[in-house]
Amino acid sequence: MKRFLKHYINGEWVKSTGSETTEVINPANEEVIGEISLGTKEDLDKAVQAAREAFPHFSETSKEDRIKMLEDIAEEYENRKEEIIDTITDELGSPLEVSEKVHFMMGYNHFAQAAESLKDFHFIEEHEGHTRMKETSGVSGLITPWNFPTNQTSTKIASAFAAGSPVILKPAEQTPFAAFLLTEIFDKVGVPKGAFNLVNGSGEVIGDGISSHEDIDFVSFTGSGATGEKIMKNAAENITNIALELGGKSPLIVLDDADVKEAARAALKHITNNTGQVCSAATRTLIPSSMKEEFEQAVKEVLPEFKVGDPREGNHMGPLVSKKQWDTVQSYIEKGTEEGATMLVGGTGKPEGLELGYYAKPTMFTDVTNDMVIASEEIFGPVMCVLTYDSLDDAISIANDTDYGLAGYVYGNDEEKLRKAASGVRAGRVKVNDTQADFAAPFGGYKKSGIGREWGDHGIEEYLEVKTVLGYPR
Ligand code: ADP
Repeated sequence: MKRFLKHYINGEWVKSTGSETTEVINPANEEVIGEISLGTKEDLDKAVQAAREAFPHFSETSKEDRIKMLEDIAEEYENRKEEIIDTITDELGSPLEVSEKVHFMMGYNHFAQAAESLKDFHFIEEHEGHTRMKETSGVSGLITPWNFPTNQTSTKIASAFAAGSPVILKPAEQTPFAAFLLTEIFDKVGVPKGAFNLVNGSGEVIGDGISSHEDIDFVSFTGSGATGEKIMKNAAENITNIALELGGKSPLIVLDDADVKEAARAALKHITNNTGQVCSAATRTLIPSSMKEEFEQAVKEVLPEFKVGDPREGNHMGPLVSKKQWDTVQSYIEKGTEEGATMLVGGTGKPEGLELGYYAKPTMFTDVTNDMVIASEEIFGPVMCVLTYDSLDDAISIANDTDYGLAGYVYGNDEEKLRKAASGVRAGRVKVNDTQADFAAPFGGYKKSGIGREWGDHGIEEYLEVKTVLGYPR
């Protein structure tokens, strides 16, 4: 059992000023694996003060020093690989392979990429009639969710450090231990005092405190739309700059020349990777009407490849993160049936033999229409909606008939159709077939999926202000 009743403020581990704590639960076996402090506004104020004091020096560090710091972090992060993988599997329930190849790897790549992006980054740009100076906007407050404990934190921290912005991080209560490891890494490599501060706590106290703090200049949040809205309202009171990465209801358009079995696999991967707890996952699969029966058959055939079970025993899909998340997913599955969708595979309840742990069944509904609740709200679990279309124009309009716009996916071979679909989908990232992730590429959403872009040089820009200087002596 891990007990961490401290925060990391001004380069030191300090005891929480409050006495409230919360338990951390391993979702695979429902055991309590740890306890953390729930910080107070006083803890947050101290962290903000430390960050403010660090600002003049940290924002003036040279580009070369920041590149070196980010490279050192990436190296030390790599040194802690086994521990990071183990911790994420314990607190999130992701299969070991996913903890390594997705969670660990994404965290690493954000630090390595920020160093790379910085090499080509120009903080001063000369234009014909003016000079632009990109300056650190100030102190940043980072609020992160539980579904990617190292990815969401690392992308924000790496960009902030690259821009010279001191930060206060509040990780999700469900998965705090990955953030403790990151903090140890920053401490070890000598991130300047006050440039990184960790304050654990609830969303209602620390999250709310960050988004309404007068001395925080920029807030970067990843999480649910409902919480994003609260953060935006709070930030509005101080006109604080914000970036929001919220939910999605992304389409996967299967073209009529796609390999049906591969398309069925792709659809199942989207809802089972990280147990469907992925904001950019495709959760609406759009198939040509003529392909419906063949696709349904293929889903049943490939489903056994997606084994659900103990994340430490080589299964493809582990549990959902919490009882709360499990209940939410169950209610959406019930809703789908009530709304008249056809349950192709899966259903409510736990998979056979998995009574302990928050396991759910990969569930796919067919005969879904976009007006159904299951097709319009983000479920954040292993539930897929399958819709049919008659023409590519029809598919694109169904794909865009959503409040969200985080991602889109296209499967098939015809290049013209792939291009048309990729251009037609209104979303921040479209992936054509099984393309690799690119950490230099901007990531973020259209519409209710958010504001701003993370990753690579776009991520760094978020932490900067642009100053125009006219008549700067050259
Ligand atoms: P979930 O409901 O799945 O936990 P949230 O979007 O509420 O998703 O959580 C993401 C992050 O936002 C977490 O760190 C959480 O503590 C924080 N959070 C929750 N409520 C608030 C709030 N009112 N203000 C700021 N942050 C919050």
